[in-house]
Amino acid sequence: MNYYSLNKRAPISSFANAVIKGLAPDRGLYFPEDIKPLPKSFFDTIDNKSYETIAYEAIQQFVDPEIPQDILKQIVKETLSFDFPVVQINDSISTLELFHGPTMAFKDVGARFMARCLGHFNKDNNEEVTVLVATSGDTGGAVANGFLGVKGVNVVILYPSGKVSDIQEKQLTTLGQNIRALEVDGVFDDCQDMVKKAFLDDSITSKMQLTSANSINVARWLPQLFYFMFAYKQLHKQHDDIVFVVPSGNFGNICAGMVAQQLGLPVKHFVAANNANHVVTTYLENEAYEPQPTTATISNAMDVGNPSNFVRIQEIYGHDFERLKNNLSSYHYTDDETRSAMLELYQKYDYVADPHGAVGYLGCKDYLEANPNAHCVFLETAHPVKFLDVVENTIGQRVPIPEQIKTVIDKEKVATKIKSYQELKSFLLSTI
Ligand SMILES: *Cc1c(COP(=O)(O)O)cnc(C)c1O
Repeated sequence: MNYYSLNKRAPISSFANAVIKGLAPDRGLYFPEDIKPLPKSFFDTIDNKSYETIAYEAIQQFVDPEIPQDILKQIVKETLSFDFPVVQINDSISTLELFHGPTMAFKDVGARFMARCLGHFNKDNNEEVTVLVATSGDTGGAVANGFLGVKGVNVVILYPSGKVSDIQEKQLTTLGQNIRALEVDGVFDDCQDMVKKAFLDDSITSKMQLTSANSINVARWLPQLFYFMFAYKQLHKQHDDIVFVVPSGNFGNICAGMVAQQLGLPVKHFVAANNANHVVTTYLENEAYEPQPTTATISNAMDVGNPSNFVRIQEIYGHDFERLKNNLSSYHYTDDETRSAMLELYQKYDYVADPHGAVGYLGCKDYLEANPNAHCVFLETAHPVKFLDVVENTIGQRVPIPEQIKTVIDKEKVATKIKSYQELKSFLLSTI
């Protein structure tokens, strides 16, 4: 598969180049040249296929011919070494739990897949690649874990001091080896700005190959399409009109679902569930796309004022506003509404949701009001333990700490404090 830049001013790229570079030279996001629908038999026989087979067959065209089949099979197998259960909430609402991976956030799949692709492309290469990533919480942990020990790849994670949860901080500062954490005196936007500046800084990029590990990278974005197929496999016998309600920040996850739909997955509709950061809700109302500064919320992985994958969504629907509106709705909610939803889920259905999942649940309720015959699946994107204080204070119950979190809590944090871009630059040039 070849990829083109959505800014249309860069050469066509191979999959390998798109993964290694992250962004095209014209600063555009890469997009697959041609998405071929899977044969109907793929969906007819989905009950007989394992998750690994589903994933392998769905992703193959996007990496072909650069990753040989046997290696791709191995990459998929290692990526998917945990469960993706659908849990029924009531007759009209289910949730797809995406938090059973090593860092208990849905980003594990994308990070693990990308790390293994990069490891494969780098195996005969003497030049190391440095993954530079800013995180507001979950990305850092998933990337650190996914890339741990991958040969030829260094990882540098910037996170805002005091602004990520204790567990999230431990997940990204305790691994060692090829993973380094920079604790930035500032907010997430400061981290993000420093990373962007580094990518544009010749004095750095002439000395090292930098790449990103957020959902602008095709190898982190595309494997997320597996989730929608896994949910379909579990639900299609009981329900016809499946609607996916996706708690969205950079819109990578929901956009991957739309790629699954392009591959032929029967999806009735998508709903983007948002917090106070709701440029897309507004866009669908009045066709005016106006990026905003981010507003801090309790569902902080969705605190994004200018979702990077929105351009990919527009490309999928041919920049046709009506077509997009036929496939996508969006609702947004306040923190108080989110807390009430967490409490309702707990009291009415005995289900403990994290704040992001709770926003998804609210999206289901609103969509069902107008479309009572649909079956809504909200994606539960993080384990409630990742947002322990909010969850425990809201439901008035302790959340048991899972094993994979316990092991990290006792480890010692190692991070380098930085205040300025200059300090990031000297760190990269002297340490890596
Ligand atoms: C990253 C993240 C999201 C948002 O996903 P996007 O692909 O950026 O839309 C939602 N919930 C959680 C818990 C996340 O970590």
